[in-house]
Amino acid sequence: MRDETLCVKKPVVSEEGFATLATPTYRASTIPFADAEAYASRGERGPDGYTYGLHGTPTTRTLEAALSALEGAERTVLVPSGQAAITVVLLAVLMPGDTVLIPDTAYPPVAGFCENYLAPRGISHRVYDPMIGAGIEALIDDTVKLIWMESPGSTTMEVQDIPAIVAVAKRHGVLTGCDNTWATPLYFKPLAHGVDFSAQALTKYVGGHSDLLMGSIAVGDLDLRSKLKDVLRMIGIGVSPDDAALALRGLETMAVRLAHCSRVARDLAERMAARVGADRVLHPALPGCAGHAVFERDFTGASGVFSLIIPAAAEEVLQRHLTAAKTFSIGASWGGTHSLLAPMRIRRTVRKEGHQGTYLRINIGMEAPEDLWADLEPIVEAVAATR
Ligand SMILES: *Cc1c(COP(=O)(O)O)cnc(C)c1O
Repeated sequence: MRDETLCVKKPVVSEEGFATLATPTYRASTIPFADAEAYASRGERGPDGYTYGLHGTPTTRTLEAALSALEGAERTVLVPSGQAAITVVLLAVLMPGDTVLIPDTAYPPVAGFCENYLAPRGISHRVYDPMIGAGIEALIDDTVKLIWMESPGSTTMEVQDIPAIVAVAKRHGVLTGCDNTWATPLYFKPLAHGVDFSAQALTKYVGGHSDLLMGSIAVGDLDLRSKLKDVLRMIGIGVSPDDAALALRGLETMAVRLAHCSRVARDLAERMAARVGADRVLHPALPGCAGHAVFERDFTGASGVFSLIIPAAAEEVLQRHLTAAKTFSIGASWGGTHSLLAPMRIRRTVRKEGHQGTYLRINIGMEAPEDLWADLEPIVEAVAATR
């Protein structure tokens, strides 16, 4: 072979005796086939076969299999973001004329997708009170094909009675999906409660270091998996094996990170509640949170994200204390090693109970708890002073 060809063709080296505890990062667009016959029959390789890099490599499949084991799932599908984990389920299930029910507390871009993408294409949505439980039955008609859930809800933290909603959905032949980003499958397993689609923003606790974006959808049967994969194939989206390798690395320490964040967050939330009053600290493991009893019944732990209600009289001083914070960063997203504060203005359309106004969403990371408290204390004092 000539030099130009030698530059392109890789020599075969022995892998004998080599092993690694890390998952190799397999990058590929083209997947070459052993012979013409194998190429011609590539469509018959089945759901786990390799045909093109976009549809999966051993790196992405390893992450999917690791997540399936945690979720108690038959298969898991990776997508490029947590938002995509939600929208791909909606795209896979809903046809023109259909309706999806979404909770008032869903991750806000979900309602945006329903209003601005699905509605113009003839797919309706109705927003429900996350505390509705079995009362969801009153909202079901022949057009309802999917009930979406998120527990606890974004920022206001209401814990949903998922088993009650799933029981109604099953009676009516309606599919259910749940955003499980907050709890991760370590603290809540949606499929074990009969949910059809368990979605997660891997961006948060699985990635764990605020440096990647990815989402996953776990399902209990192969038919649902092919519905999801069909959408991804037609639209032409997949995930980067480099990002999947980062997520696999993050997953190895997730249980320890989560246990730490869980303990510190709960301790700080209790300290805060003692100063500002139990009704102003929204942490599912504390009694001031809507759905606390359901949390105790269904979840095995709480992660490190909770909220503080900011009364109108404390809003101005909050701005000053946020800017002065030394350990916390100000920012959205969460689940990484850095603690974050995010002031959120919330106005619910269906759920009328609870504060309409500013909430402080708190993500506890890995810094020393006393440094975190030093930033939180003046905010807590300002809120307490409004009593
Ligand atoms: C962050 C988040 C998402 C979206 O994840 P991205 O990867 O940022 O798109 C969805 N749901 C919840 C509950 C989230 O916190």
